[in-house]
Amino acid sequence: MTDALRIARRVRHPLKFRLLEVVEVSDLTPSLRRVVLTGDLEDFVSLGFDDHVKLIPAGDGETPAVPTLGPEGPVFEGPRPIMRDYTPRQWDTTNRTLTIDFAVGHGGPATDWVMTARPGSKLGVGGPRGSFIVPTAFPHHVLIGDETAIPAISRRLEELPADVKVLVVVEVEDEASAPPLNSAAELTVVRVDRRGGPRGRVEALQAAVQTALADLPRDDAYVWIAGESQVARTLRGVVVALGFDPRALKAAGYWRAGAVGAHEVIED
Ligand SMILES: Cc1cc2nc3c(=O)[nH]c(=O)nc-3n(C[C@H](O)[C@H](O)[C@H](O)COP(=O)(O)OP(=O)(O)OC[C@H]3O[C@@H](n4cnc5c(N)ncnc54)[C@H](O)[C@@H]3O)c2cc1C
Repeated sequence: MTDALRIARRVRHPLKFRLLEVVEVSDLTPSLRRVVLTGDLEDFVSLGFDDHVKLIPAGDGETPAVPTLGPEGPVFEGPRPIMRDYTPRQWDTTNRTLTIDFAVGHGGPATDWVMTARPGSKLGVGGPRGSFIVPTAFPHHVLIGDETAIPAISRRLEELPADVKVLVVVEVEDEASAPPLNSAAELTVVRVDRRGGPRGRVEALQAAVQTALADLPRDDAYVWIAGESQVARTLRGVVVALGFDPRALKAAGYWRAGAVGAHEVIED
């Protein structure tokens, strides 16, 4: 494969904030709650599997203050609202729906919102502002993460072609908390169960990653990692130490223990 086929690229999108309304709430697993939203979604675009939108949750029964767009960017009436990053899991511009999967089990404005969300509840949604497009042409793909990464992992699995291999290492509570993962690609899933242990601990994932990646070709794989920030940083170090190419590696902190609304791009 030529290097050109391996180059990831960024695409910017015009920023847009929308006020959406819940049409359906369901539990995929005891720790993943799915919300389908509707509204002004005809021009919604999300080209990268790990894109994110900014959610603006409001209190139960309240309507969030969604910014308007001025020449300098978003204009907030009053104090800047609380926003949290989530992956657009699925969308349909014809039927004007957007699906978001929420990891639940901790407290926070986004999680509190989804615990009371029901048809008719309102949610502000901004973006995605841009997409990072990773070629699918690598013969091997590795996707590592916890529940917060499952929506992005699921998207990636759906877009990978049949002639590549994909290894998923995912940390969940237990078997019942693991949603089905499907791909046209040749898929191997390594599940790491917490079984009542705290979220955001690295030891079990680290051991699983070391074992699962041991025999993969170092120069033919793209590795993607997301989860708790310190865990993602440690796992990135493990993957680099195993000899994988840091240029074909993306790691992100999707949340940080003890911090709110954290998003960290991890490059060292
Ligand atoms: C690019 C990107 C995409 C993301 N996509 C998704 C997604 O599709 N689905 C999803 O569920 N999450 C996703 N996340 C993670 C989500 O944004 C965070 O978990 C966020 O902190 C949740 O907001 P909150 O209001 O519930 O909690 P916050 O107010 O941010 O945090 C409250 C407390 O809960 C802790 N906390 C936050 N998240 C977790 C967690 N997962 N487990 C345990 N404790 C936690 C914090 O450390 C803090 O102590 C994504 C994050 C990023 C950066």
